[in-house]
Amino acid sequence: MVRRAASGSYAIVNATALTMSPLCARADGDARVSQDDLGVLHGATVVVRDGIIKDVWSKLDLGAPFPHEDLSDLEVHDVRDAVVMPGLVDAHTHALFAGDRVEDFEALAHGGTPKLGIAYTVERTRSLDEPALIELGRQRLRSMREHGTTTAEIKSGYALTADGEVKLIRAMAALDEMSDLPHVVATFCGAHALPPEFTSYDAFIDELIKHITPAVAALQIARFADAFCERGFFSVEQSRRFLEDCKARGMQLRLHADELARSGGAQLAARLRCTSADHLNFAGVDDIRALRDAGTIAVLCPATAQYLSLERLAPARALIDAGVPVALATDFNPGTCPCYSLQEVAHLARRRLQMSAAETIAAVTTIAARSLEANAVAGCIAPGRPADLVVLETTDYREFGYYFGVNLVAWTAVGSKGGTGSGLPLTGRKETSV
Ligand SMILES: [Zn+2]
Repeated sequence: MVRRAASGSYAIVNATALTMSPLCARADGDARVSQDDLGVLHGATVVVRDGIIKDVWSKLDLGAPFPHEDLSDLEVHDVRDAVVMPGLVDAHTHALFAGDRVEDFEALAHGGTPKLGIAYTVERTRSLDEPALIELGRQRLRSMREHGTTTAEIKSGYALTADGEVKLIRAMAALDEMSDLPHVVATFCGAHALPPEFTSYDAFIDELIKHITPAVAALQIARFADAFCERGFFSVEQSRRFLEDCKARGMQLRLHADELARSGGAQLAARLRCTSADHLNFAGVDDIRALRDAGTIAVLCPATAQYLSLERLAPARALIDAGVPVALATDFNPGTCPCYSLQEVAHLARRRLQMSAAETIAAVTTIAARSLEANAVAGCIAPGRPADLVVLETTDYREFGYYFGVNLVAWTAVGSKGGTGSGLPLTGRKETSV
């Protein structure tokens, strides 16, 4: 019998639950993640009432304290050993824009040079009103959710005027309110690109500090600020001026750092005690040490490197081995990464960054949630937390990142917002070999 859990109150039984509780309980922020940190419970029951997790236990744990929650008034879904894990957290996206760049992709694919660039996306984004932008964001966030994402960070930065950035940040707040979508964490990425009416990066930083940032800060929606610190774009000094002003106005900091060249971004992120430093393809040993000492989380975006055919990839192993927590994100954006599947990113992390299954799963749940300062509500299956859950069509969690081009997510729930997908229970495939 297949029934949907639409009420926000239900129980999932016979699950292979990745609770992530051991990792969540570690206050030291240690980067090293092992299988033991996943908190795997076989034969698990997860009880959800009004969107909040009430109880989690394993029928195989004979020492478990009783009584547990009474299930008699709940819809009960037998998932036949399928993996149930925390909803995925995408810690770096640019999901709110108009103006895709398929023409640029065509040029790239034929060995040519893209012509539209970010200026085209800025022009198109400026031309749309708030309801139209919200509708575009809604469609994309729904696709993300179908691929397992229950919390998504979104960066502004495709309008680059005071009114335009306010429009984008307000649209993010509206999307966060929508019951059928992932939670949205808003980031003001004012120093994203040089708008066409400016010829000087310094002059645009002045404009940001004088007009744009105050207008955005007044909304009190954006939790973070971000800058594109890269050789040939915003310099270390320009990024510092912008970010310090944002911090003074109450925002926490993230930074695009050392993606295309070693540009001093990681060092700046460490100096400013940024919550996250993102990309880091060119980060060196000194940069890694600085990030570790600052307690900054690395958010790696291997799908972007894939799209751009970059030879240099982020030093994930060196970061983890040095003690820098590593999160993974899609970097979903129209110009360099039109991908909203964290499963695809997980595959690239496994295959190209040599991350283990446990490290990869932590990187798209618990550690990603930490990087958004959302770890109190996301990234863990435990009583009292919102039921942000994903059910995979597999019984073996190591298949997360093994398959690519395949959506293993059968069902997601975002807190009290109900479920999506084809319903439960699942087939609970037990064998992967043919
Ligand atoms: Zn980005």
